Amino acid sequence: MYRILINLSSIKRNPNAGSTRSYASGPVNITFEYEGEVPDYLIDGENFFMESWTEGPEGKRFTGVLKDHSLQDKLIADKNGSVTVNSERNVIHHMPEPSHHFNYEDTNVQCGQCEATFDFNKLESDENELGGYSATVCPECEAWHCCELDVEQLDEALIRKEKIKNT
Ligand SMILES: [Zn+2]
Repeated sequence: MYRILINLSSIKRNPNAGSTRSYASGPVNITFEYEGEVPDYLIDGENFFMESWTEGPEGKRFTGVLKDHSLQDKLIADKNGSVTVNSERNVIHHMPEPSHHFNYEDTNVQCGQCEATFDFNKLESDENELGGYSATVCPECEAWHCCELDVEQLDEALIRKEKIKNT
């Protein structure tokens, strides 16, 4: 049995604790509305994608998504139609974020099968079609349950940290 301790100095309060949404990095979606004919510089399928087109008594209007983001400024400056540019960021919904971030101490463990020694971070996990699962697969010989871990929980580590502070 190997005791895996949390590195006490690595424990940091998570400012986003409990949050269930994050924003994807990378390009934003730029959508816009345009009143009037499609201007020359917009080519459907090439530098933008038309999303809807309506023609009524008030005139023509369409909405689109920019493929070429460099056209955003041109659209904003365009006086031939009224243009609204929305920069939407891609929201990722996920489980509530933990109260703290932390790392574990580097801890060497030994495989009970092939006796290789390695850091516990190298352990792999595997599952089979019968629903079996192992989170301690040896990276060398691939034996399941190759060693036993006793992983410290955050609340245990916080108590340990508190005790150290008070001595
Ligand atoms: Zn092994």
